[in-house]
Amino acid sequence: MTRTHSPAGPAPVVALDVGGTHIKGAVLAPDGTLLHAESADTQADRGPDAAIDSTFAFARRLAERFGPAAVGIAVPGIVDEGSGTCRFSANLGWRDVPVRDRAEIELGLPVALGHDVRAGAIAEARLGAGRDCDSFLFLPIGTGIAGGIVLGGRALTGRHNVAGEVGHLVVRPDGPSCRCGARGCLEAVASASAIARRYRELAGLSPVERVSAEQVQQRAQAGDEVAVRVWRDAVLALADGLVTVVTLLDPQRVVIGGGLSRAGSALLDPLYAALTERLTFQTRPELVPAELGHRAGSLGAGLLALDLLHAADPVGERA
Ligand SMILES: [Zn+2]
Repeated sequence: MTRTHSPAGPAPVVALDVGGTHIKGAVLAPDGTLLHAESADTQADRGPDAAIDSTFAFARRLAERFGPAAVGIAVPGIVDEGSGTCRFSANLGWRDVPVRDRAEIELGLPVALGHDVRAGAIAEARLGAGRDCDSFLFLPIGTGIAGGIVLGGRALTGRHNVAGEVGHLVVRPDGPSCRCGARGCLEAVASASAIARRYRELAGLSPVERVSAEQVQQRAQAGDEVAVRVWRDAVLALADGLVTVVTLLDPQRVVIGGGLSRAGSALLDPLYAALTERLTFQTRPELVPAELGHRAGSLGAGLLALDLLHAADPVGERA
């Protein structure tokens, strides 16, 4: 066991949210307050080892500057928090990387490894839109659609660390193929990239003409009929996915994050209406936008690091 022990004192924690392009770094005070934020390039395009090297180099730089008591690292993909291993990450090219143990050796500090969306869900639970809420679904909608289920203050991992993959609920069995290999997954019909792609197809735009989901929504608001249809279909698919979630989990709240949540009431109002229409015996959950934006993952990684310190120091107060 290479874990070093540091007493939980006033020292901050360093947190990293490692994405395919950028690593979002944060430094958190022991009470969870954000002290510093900074980003670095992941350099995943240079291979899996380069992504590991840049992650550790960035952590080391922040550690030298801020003298943390622990480090939290959140990564995308299939993450086994218990063993501190990234089983697989398509974005980073990692397979069975013992991130926690390697980082502890590199940094000489205790390290917590988490899954980026589950870490984000924990951050929303304690610092954001999931406060005072015992059960909620964190639903980031961006290039893809992810999900983090929080029950009793804990993020559900499942036996194989893939619980909460709401983006791969099949909502349109004859729909477009999904990168997971199935057809008609929620992500393939209602993610920001799916909305943009469908609009481009139906509006007959050339493949090089770029249009974002945000622009589709704006065009819908301005009365563009194709945009209205694409936006409405995506909202209805989201409502169908949420019906399944509500039926299985009976959550108090659904916290919508990711780029698409910036649409605000243009998304939430019709989604709320469509969900209400579909529910029969189930109780409609609250539908709210996420509060922490792109910082959720790094804040969550920091909370995991703080939890690690409190676990090592039983008299410490939970942040
Ligand atoms: Zn899928």
